[in-house]
Amino acid sequence: MCFVEELEEKLIKALQNSADRSLLQSDLWKSISSNSREVSRALARMEKKGIVKREPFTGDSHKTYRVILIKKEQKVQISDMVWCYCFTCHDLSRCGMGQPISPENCVKLTMSLRNEFMKYQKSEEIKKAASSEKE
Ligand code: SF4
Repeated sequence: MCFVEELEEKLIKALQNSADRSLLQSDLWKSISSNSREVSRALARMEKKGIVKREPFTGDSHKTYRVILIKKEQKVQISDMVWCYCFTCHDLSRCGMGQPISPENCVKLTMSLRNEFMKYQKSEEIKKAASSEKE
């Protein structure tokens, strides 16, 4: 992870750990032991990506921004993909589109996708049932 990614990750964590997923920018850079200039640049990038939004805030003695976490940027982790048979497939080096061994007609890939989809469907049903119980 590069410096910029590390800094953004620290900012996201600090915002996630705050009471309402928001902090004053002047408190934010202090809380991660960084400097205001680096944090200001990082927040501008994150705002463009739609991860945070900043609203002007006037405190007792200074102007700053309230930084609000909108969403955590989605990153695909290798651990999210281990269900896919391709990662352990002995035919991986011979497999390719248009080849005799291909993802287009692979039963193993189809089965692992189907299993994952069924797990997803089941988890959605559980969430739906849990939310309707609350109502
Ligand atoms: S598509 Fe099928 S054959 Fe190709 S690497 Fe994945 S599991 Fe193996």
